Amino acid sequence: MQAVELVEVSKSFTSSRHKEFLAVDRLNLQIAQGEFFSLLGPSGCGKTTTLRMLAGFELPTSGDIYIYGEPMEQLPPFHRPVNTVFQNYALFPHLTVAQNVAFGLEMEKLPRAQIRSRVAEALEMVKLNGLEKRYPRQLSGGQQQRVALARALVKQPKVLLLDEPLGALDLKLRKEMQIELKHLQQQVGITFIYVTHDQEEALTMSDRMAVMSEGKILQVGEPIEIYEEPNSRFVADFIGETNLLTGKIIEQQGEQAIVLVDETLPIKVSYRDRLSVGQIVTIVIRPEKIAISSPQEGDRSGWLAKVEEAVYIGTDTRYLVRLTEQTVITIRQQNLHRSRIHFYQPGENVQINISPDNMRLIL
Ligand code: ATP
Repeated sequence: MQAVELVEVSKSFTSSRHKEFLAVDRLNLQIAQGEFFSLLGPSGCGKTTTLRMLAGFELPTSGDIYIYGEPMEQLPPFHRPVNTVFQNYALFPHLTVAQNVAFGLEMEKLPRAQIRSRVAEALEMVKLNGLEKRYPRQLSGGQQQRVALARALVKQPKVLLLDEPLGALDLKLRKEMQIELKHLQQQVGITFIYVTHDQEEALTMSDRMAVMSEGKILQVGEPIEIYEEPNSRFVADFIGETNLLTGKIIEQQGEQAIVLVDETLPIKVSYRDRLSVGQIVTIVIRPEKIAISSPQEGDRSGWLAKVEEAVYIGTDTRYLVRLTEQTVITIRQQNLHRSRIHFYQPGENVQINISPDNMRLIL
């Protein structure tokens, strides 16, 4: 059984001028039990609205939501087997850490001893033991977020909904918390549905993810699929840095297509399905999959290009290289050995090599 299922779920809002606005457009999605699933997309694409419909804070305009096979239509938020962690923590400032975490269980009127042991267990999970008596204002942002997590976990939801929970933390702490959250999810085995607009965060944490744009899901898959095999220009462009070259199919030989870019540059790309000559396609090339070297006499394996810009960014050097009169591409070269770091200078001629398997065609 799926933990969560959305069937043709749409949500429209009516603006002050009585105009209908479709925030979520016929979503179909299945999330398995124990999955860490992310909803990723730019601001305004409908991620939060989707999460709020799962929580019951918003009702779908049409479509159905099931959690563990049970239709959610008639269930108010507090009867759903879900809990939500928000970006702004929403802690009670006048309650201590332990009281904040215990709050939900006290509302349920559970026996004192049981509340005490469950609160202790939840605080242990998020590594906050010892801070039970502090007030939220006496905690760092990261610690406050852990309290919010403990408060959600203590209720033992079947599904935990997280809306940009690390958004307010600085980059270093956010990266640490990403790993911790992932470990915590594996330890508790609860299905996590995680909303973020940060592609790196989604790639780092998710078992599977959905990329959304304008209320629609464009692609669902494991991080490696989404990054390596984007199904659209939008997904390719949104997930990481990318080069998108438009060209025309001029030939297909077996499992390789030849695409003519800018009417001058033929590029060989691996592609299994049938294409038709004359078809316009987009080639997706990730900057780290391009090799840059000094041109060698007699070596015709790559293309000649000219460096326009070279920027050292520590782990990599990032080059802008002119491939044709119209097209400049980005290349990232890893700086693996200090002694072998070599910078190609702006104006320098270089050779570019890309394996046909390292490019992807989008029709
Ligand atoms: P963000 O990352 O900025 O939170 P999001 O992808 O989560 O973005 P939503 O918050 O789901 O996007 O919003 C989707 C669209 O629906 C936006 O254009 C937003 O303005 C609109 N919207 C959301 N809630 C309401 C509401 N209560 N009334 C009217 N419009 C709304």
